[in-house]
Amino acid sequence: MDARARAAVRKRAGNRCEYCQLRQEDSPLAALHVEHIVPKTHGGTDDLENLALACIDCNLHKGPNLTGIDPETNQVTELFHPRRDRWSDHFEWRGICLQGKTTVGRTTIRVLHMNSEDQLALRSV
Ligand SMILES: [Zn+2]
Repeated sequence: MDARARAAVRKRAGNRCEYCQLRQEDSPLAALHVEHIVPKTHGGTDDLENLALACIDCNLHKGPNLTGIDPETNQVTELFHPRRDRWSDHFEWRGICLQGKTTVGRTTIRVLHMNSEDQLALRSV
């Protein structure tokens, strides 16, 4: 992945985490990362369609995961895919907390710890 690809991903994402929507300017201590939606371990490529911008919290918790267990249905569910899925179809805001509207949303919030104390603290500023 070269600097041009990184810049393109950053621009396409509007300089926000494509999972929790944290803006770069609200995360002055940690740069948002360009991550592989399908990790390289699972055959993911450096193609722009497989890249997304993610904050350090979402990126670390996502790790090599592609799925999780939906806390409501207990079914194995795919994680949110920023290139294929529309954010507003799966997530909504309740104050500073993220709420999953679908199995994908709930599972992604759970696996990525998107309502962790650290995340809530950043959002409340
Ligand atoms: Zn995030």
